[in-house]
Parts: sequence; C-alpha cells; structure tokens
Amino acid sequence: MALSYGSVGNVSGGLYPKLPSPDCPSDSPPDSRQQYNAGRHALAPLMLVLKSISKSYHDGESELQVLHGIDLRLGRGESLALRGVSGSGKSTLLQIAAGLEAPDQGEVRLLGYLLPALSDRELSLLRRRHLGFVFQQFNLLPGLNVRDNVLFQRRLNHLPDADPWVADLIQGLELADLWQRPVEVLSGGQQQRIAIARALAHRPELVFADEPTGNLHDTLSRQVMALFVSLVEKSGSALLLVTHNREMANFAQRQCVLEAGQLLESRPA
Ligand code: ADP
Ligand code: MG
Repeated sequence: MALSYGSVGNVSGGLYPKLPSPDCPSDSPPDSRQQYNAGRHALAPLMLVLKSISKSYHDGESELQVLHGIDLRLGRGESLALRGVSGSGKSTLLQIAAGLEAPDQGEVRLLGYLLPALSDRELSLLRRRHLGFVFQQFNLLPGLNVRDNVLFQRRLNHLPDADPWVADLIQGLELADLWQRPVEVLSGGQQQRIAIARALAHRPELVFADEPTGNLHDTLSRQVMALFVSLVEKSGSALLLVTHNREMANFAQRQCVLEAGQLLESRPA
C-alpha cells in the first residue's frame, strides 16, 4: 500500500496522527519516524502556491480591499521576502498563506495540499510537523526555560531531544549558556534567537517569518537576520519573510513588493 508521508501509523505506543496524501503525489513516502527527514523529499516541489488571492475587511459601512488577485509561488528551499509599507497587507497575506486566515477568493496550496480540502485537525497537524513560525513579538512560552521552549515543537512531533541538528542550532545561535534559564529574564536579542531555534528545531519544510527582527535595534537586527537566514538555508527549508525593511529583505534570494493590494516581483534594493 502506498502510504502518504504523514501516514506513519503507531509510534511510541500512541497513535501517530495521519494526514491524507497531498494531491501532488509523493514518490517514496516514509513509513517510520526514523524517516522523518527523508519524508521531506516526498513532499511537493512547490512549498506554496497562491492563485488570485483576494481579501477585504469590512468596517461598518466601509470596505477595505487589502489583497487583490495575488499570485505567488515558492519552491523548495527558496527564500522570498515580501516587502511593503505598514498596512499594505503583508501580515494578512502571510496568515492566508499559512492557513491561519481564509481568503475571500483564490486558491492556497500549501506543501501540495489545497487548503480547503483539509480538516482543521489536518491543517494543525500540517503546521505542527512541517511549518515553522517566527514573529515580531517573540511569543515564547513563559514559565519554561530555553531548552523547553526550543524543543517544544519537536516534542509535539515525537522527535527526540538529542539530535545533531539541534546541536547545530544551539551552537549557531549561541544558546548553550542560556539553555537552562527561564526565558522571561532574557534580552530581546536572546529571546528572538530562542524563537528562531524553536521555529527551526523540527526542520520544517517552510518557515514563515513576520517582521522577525522588528523589535530589535539595527545592528542586532542585521546579526539576527543573517543568522536566521543562514540556518534556514542550512536546514533546507523554504522561507517566506515579511518585512517593511529593505535591508532585511535583501537577505532573501527573491523579493516581492506588496503595493495597493498587488504583488510585484522586485530586485534587491
Ligand atoms: P501589514 O502587515 O503590511 O502592516 P496588515 O496585513 O496587518 O498590514 O493589514 C493590512 C490592512 O488591513 C491594514 O489597514 C489593517 O488595519 C487592516 N486589517 C488587518 N487585519 C484586520 C482585521 N482583522 N479587521 C479589519 N481590518 C484589518
Ligand atoms: Mg504586519
């Protein structure tokens, strides 16, 4: 029987939840947790496809058209920065792309899955296993130390704490000395390094980042963004980065500008 990459059956004595096969077919799907990373290659070559996405918000009498017929494609391992001034709809587009918000019109295909075809449960599984998120507000879990924050999503995915990739993250993001410390006592720069480690620890296929250095001062922003993008590349993940900042956008391989609801491909500034 051809298993989908998500159909890994019974793991660690508990029923490991299943995802249906993506309608972009997989050629050699994994059949055990050990093949978790091999499963990456069974996914669709396009990580994200948006077709004719439109979204407007209604505020009493008035209607605000935020996105108007957006098309976007993001390939495996590719990084794309979505630029635009504040209020241009960047966060709205990212939320729609990640299935956190529904478009009024258009099609979202995430890792080969057409989103409306997935149940809420399947969509949360897809996010938990295959996506990583970094936000401007670091959104760390208070009351937990650095280790438990970083390993949080790995543990949800039944992945072991000890792993060479986790060791790479600890080293790259200089977290070893902070490992046992509660996150709430740490600086903004430290907290964002932890948020990055948490987003990448389970080696997601696709990482969404919304103004990930927006709360840091300029020099620190550059350092953290350089680290972030280099680790995303090392992990082989694709990246959709949202930023109002041209300098930060230049860290990505491709750039688009969101303006008046339309998306224009742009060259590095
Ligand atoms: P950006 O991330 O580029 O700053 P957003 O996507 O957050 O822009 O917002 C785009 C526009 O949509 C803004 O004018 C914002 O006020 C409006 N908007 C965003 N979310 C909502 C919402 N839930 N209800 C009403 N208006 C919204
Ligand atoms: Mg925003």
